[in-house]
Amino acid sequence: MASRLVMKFGGTSVADLERIRRVARLVAAEARSGHAIAVVVSAMSGRTNELVAWIDAAGGAAPGLAASDDEYDAVVASGEQVTAGLLARVLRHDGLDARSWMGWQAPILTDDTHGSARIEDIPPEQLSASLDAGQIAVIAGFQGVTRDGRITTLGRGGSDTSAVAIAAALQAVRCDIYTDVDGVYTTDPRIEQRARRIPKISYEEMLEMASLGAKVLQTRSVEMAMAHRVPVRVLSSFTEPGEADPDKTGTIVCAEEEIVEKRIVSGVAFSRDEAKITLYGVPDHPGVSSKIFSGLADANVNVDMIVQSHARSAAGTANMEFTVGRRDALRTQEIIRALQGEVGFEELACDENVAKVSVVGVGMRSHAGVAKTMFTALAERGVNIQVISTSEIKISVLIDAAYTELAVRALHAAYGLQEG
Ligand code: ADP
Ligand code: ASP
Ligand code: MG
Repeated sequence: MASRLVMKFGGTSVADLERIRRVARLVAAEARSGHAIAVVVSAMSGRTNELVAWIDAAGGAAPGLAASDDEYDAVVASGEQVTAGLLARVLRHDGLDARSWMGWQAPILTDDTHGSARIEDIPPEQLSASLDAGQIAVIAGFQGVTRDGRITTLGRGGSDTSAVAIAAALQAVRCDIYTDVDGVYTTDPRIEQRARRIPKISYEEMLEMASLGAKVLQTRSVEMAMAHRVPVRVLSSFTEPGEADPDKTGTIVCAEEEIVEKRIVSGVAFSRDEAKITLYGVPDHPGVSSKIFSGLADANVNVDMIVQSHARSAAGTANMEFTVGRRDALRTQEIIRALQGEVGFEELACDENVAKVSVVGVGMRSHAGVAKTMFTALAERGVNIQVISTSEIKISVLIDAAYTELAVRALHAAYGLQEG
């Protein structure tokens, strides 16, 4: 049986027919080299944003509940249907046997968390039979189906997760993620031109980078790759077959043991999709936090950084600050306001002008002084830190969004990550 390979192409890689034709050449080259191929495609770049704007403008979302419901998914999943069909057509035109597969056909079975559904199972029989018959499977990324037949989507950037999940289900030798950069960099190359490509990065570091804002891979795709030990390669789709030297391009995401060169800090990530909620005058007794955060958890709102302080608050009360995703900011305020009588806080404020900047590296486990370098570099630029959170391999700070680029570049330099 031919070894299986999954190739995923993001939005900019399928932005028009000319690019889809280049994708077809890359796919054909891998097929000629003897692999059985499953291709996963995103919607053409910009299309998903357009679809989200349409469904948001349509109204009708239940108040206080997520704006992403089953009809949101029915609409936004359609972008991937178009590209899957187009690529299959182009491949056929080039004389290859190919067919498109929608999420419900494959099938990609998910739970019913519309807008950010989780893949539960991909029964591989049908896709496998198609690959074994020599057909190229072109699968619409980002979309799935519930067990009772409703269309779901996997959250923004979710085609990465479709690809890794399919690679795991099909026992592929590797999952290649083709995008508009030739690998994972020490930070977003759009912000810092001196960012360097990281030839190999561990699953753990990539998971932190992704969850802290490096959108080159969706967080869940890395989680899934790590759990199923799927080797992932990130590479550029803007080359012709055979043009890129595999030793000089791309990033392999793999187990930490496979990486010889160990760095203290591997990268700097940032996210502007944050909102800071502050509750003033929260009664300082047991059970209060539990009430607040249970309310948010029940509504599926993810809370990130949390601090509580007594500074400048009246006796017997504390102030509490936490961050949520910006898309959840409004909902969070509604939920918390509804709890005001029960919890008894004095005032609620929401600041959307914040950004989270983080440094990530497995070397932090065994090296002191990483935090000092971070705080000093930010202080030297006059960047005020509002909230800090740490884990074993990352330090994050919340700052005024206006200083995001300044902070990213300062930290990139402070840890010696730049080129040359
Ligand atoms: P696709 O449409 O192919 O899924 P995305 O836009 O989702 O592509 O992801 C690729 C983008 O991720 C790059 O263009 C880059 O600006 C951004 N990015 C953010 N952080 C990083 C990083 N550390 N390394 C590489 N790219 C990054
Ligand atoms: N098209 C979807 C998005 O823009 C999924 C993806 O591209 O991965 O989020
Ligand atoms: Mg993406």
